[in-house]
Amino acid sequence: MTTETTNDAAIVEAEILRVWSVSIDCPHCRASQDGWLADPRGKDHECDDCGKRYRVPADIRVVF
Ligand SMILES: [Zn+2]
Repeated sequence: MTTETTNDAAIVEAEILRVWSVSIDCPHCRASQDGWLADPRGKDHECDDCGKRYRVPADIRVVF
């Protein structure tokens, strides 16, 4: 008879991390840009507030 816990056997890995809210601060005017429907990384975007273009690097720091 083992005294080991069997809790580990019940752990199943999740398959999807669903992101509900994405926002980026415009590097020109610092206005918060949100409402993204796709991953904005690795692309150029135009600020909704000041109209200037900026790039979101693919390896940008992600803050939760
Ligand atoms: Zn801006």
